[in-house]
Amino acid sequence: MLANELWLLVAACGVCAGVVWAAARFVRRRAADADEWMPRELRDHTLAYAERTFKSGGERELVARVDRAYRGRSSQVTLVELKTRRTDRVHLSDIIELSAQRVALEGETGESVARIGWVVVEVEGRRTAHRVTLMRSQAVWNLVSRRDALLAGTESPSYPAASGVCRTCVYRRRCRSAR
Ligand code: SF4
Repeated sequence: MLANELWLLVAACGVCAGVVWAAARFVRRRAADADEWMPRELRDHTLAYAERTFKSGGERELVARVDRAYRGRSSQVTLVELKTRRTDRVHLSDIIELSAQRVALEGETGESVARIGWVVVEVEGRRTAHRVTLMRSQAVWNLVSRRDALLAGTESPSYPAASGVCRTCVYRRRCRSAR
C-alpha cells in the first residue's frame, strides 16, 4: 500500500515538474517574441513610461498619451508608438503624434526626449520597428495654432493631393470634399 502511494506521489511530482517546465518555456518564448521587434539602439534602455498621459503645462497646454518611453544610459528618453495595421507603413500622422508626445512629456517632467523615435507596426502578429525623426517643438506648436485657426474658421483647410487618403479616412461619410 505504501509503495503504491509512493509511486503515485512520484508520478504526481513528475507531472508537476513537466507543467512548470512547459509554463516556463512558454513564458520565455513569449518574452522573446515580445522583444523581437526591439531595435538594437534601445536594447540597453529600460522602460520608463507605458500608456501614460502627459500634459505640457503652460498657457496653451498640449495633452498626449505615450504608448512606451524608454530611458537610456544618458537618461534621455526615447518614444515608441505601437500601431496595428494591414500594411507595414509609417504615416505622417505617426510622426506628428510622437512629436506631440515629446512636447507634452518634456513639458510635464522636464526630461530630455530624443528627436529620434520609433514607430512599431504590427502586421498579422509580426512587429517591425521604424526609426523616425520627430518634428521640432516649434513645428508642433505651429500645428496647434493651425488647428485652432481651422476650428475658429479663420483659415481654410487644404485637401489631400492624393485620393487614396480620402478612401481610408474615417470622416469620409461626413466630408463634402471627399475625393
Ligand atoms: S475625406 Fe475629407 S476629411 Fe477625409 S481626407 Fe478626404 S478631404 Fe480630408
